[in-house]
Amino acid sequence: MVSKKILLDEEEIPKQWYNIQPDLPKPLPPMIHPGTKEPVKLPPPLFPLECLKQEYSMERWIDIPEPVREVYRIWRPSPLFRATGLEKALKTPANIYYKYEGVSPPGSHKTNTAVAQAYYAAKEGLERVTTETGAGQWGSALSYSAQLFGVKATVYMVSASYYQKPYRKSLIETWGAEVFPSPTNRTKSGRTVLEGNPESTGSLGIAISEAVEEALNTEGVKYTIGSVVNHVLLHQTVIGLETQKQLAMVDEYPDQIIGCIGGGSSFSGLYWPFYHDKVKGKAPKEAEFIAVESSAVPKVTKGYYTYDHGDTARIIPLVKMHTVGHTFIPAPIHAGGLRYHGMAPTLSLLKDEGVLQSRAYNQLEIFEAAELFTKTEGIIPAPEPSHAIKATIDEAVKCKETGEEKTILFLLCGHGHFDMKGYDDYNSGKMRPYEYPQAKVDEAMMKLRQLYPWINHELSGMT
Ligand SMILES: *Cc1c(COP(=O)(O)O)cnc(C)c1O
Repeated sequence: MVSKKILLDEEEIPKQWYNIQPDLPKPLPPMIHPGTKEPVKLPPPLFPLECLKQEYSMERWIDIPEPVREVYRIWRPSPLFRATGLEKALKTPANIYYKYEGVSPPGSHKTNTAVAQAYYAAKEGLERVTTETGAGQWGSALSYSAQLFGVKATVYMVSASYYQKPYRKSLIETWGAEVFPSPTNRTKSGRTVLEGNPESTGSLGIAISEAVEEALNTEGVKYTIGSVVNHVLLHQTVIGLETQKQLAMVDEYPDQIIGCIGGGSSFSGLYWPFYHDKVKGKAPKEAEFIAVESSAVPKVTKGYYTYDHGDTARIIPLVKMHTVGHTFIPAPIHAGGLRYHGMAPTLSLLKDEGVLQSRAYNQLEIFEAAELFTKTEGIIPAPEPSHAIKATIDEAVKCKETGEEKTILFLLCGHGHFDMKGYDDYNSGKMRPYEYPQAKVDEAMMKLRQLYPWINHELSGMT
């Protein structure tokens, strides 16, 4: 009988996070100031100072503060499951494992970094932090963490989600943060959008502009972020570091490592430690890294690797990443966490270097996969990690055809208890697939080139 659940003792919670920066094949391209056209760093009033330090750190290992580990003990180490039910249903010779991050109180991996950012904000004596949230997973993780350390939190929630996902909003409020539907009248960025379109349902790019603007203009207030940037991704490496120990307990090493990508933080948290094995020559196998996005937001599969803004109001400097354009307004797909227009610069660089593969699925395909997973494994997955489930099923079916006994590892980064509207639509046959057209990506890229003709877009593959 194979063991279903592979658990670690509390002492095995990692004592350090892994930072990939010193191990990248080449340095990250610098941010560029759109006015001076010179390389710039993020301004110190933006992030808590310790986060800013980690953002540019070349230390490979960064100590996890003891008060943060203390909070991690509430749900960490998280379980690694062998997907025996799914394997049986697929009749695959593959061994499938999934690391489950839905066990944190807010229900996703986001809490791993929220706790750290809230701790650093409190240590610096900040009174309050601001942030944005799309579907509400990040907003709830931050609200939960901020109150643990006695810091106030203000959340700009994409208006479409604020009204469509009222219970994520309720969670944010229950943990004590204030939450506003973005765009708001509280900021210049919000007011500008509302003047152009009073009915705007918002986007993550707009909500980021609002949260950043307020932080930069208010004493004792700084900004926190749920994905994309280096310090967030490195906080997530507790996921992969624990998984390595858990797989070793059952004498396994993955042939394939699969995760969904919104901004890239959960998947990076899983694969970075395995990438470290690879560069150190410690990997017993050549593991493949497969990043899965939504075909409604195809920044890696259809977008361009070029300089763009991370926010719609263009407050944040230009950063080189895969993007569908900062003007992107997402279709109302259920995987709210995958609707961001850009991608983590580290993940973008590694994709460009051929270290990672990427693929995209539409929401009908991923809910089909989620349905099979729910019936065979019991846990109701969030729509975002259901993209990884879909890719895993496809790979496991290939193994059946070829007879290969691959070990496949994927990340189940959150549960879907607040996504039942999506399951309702799927169950009643109302769900439609959606693919973002290449022409729309190209149109946004043309606009970008008109804004910044001095960037050598051709070098970024943009024609
Ligand atoms: C936020 C979120 C995502 C997308 O963000 P990443 O930074 O790519 O991980 C995916 N799944 C869940 C459950 C999320 O909360």
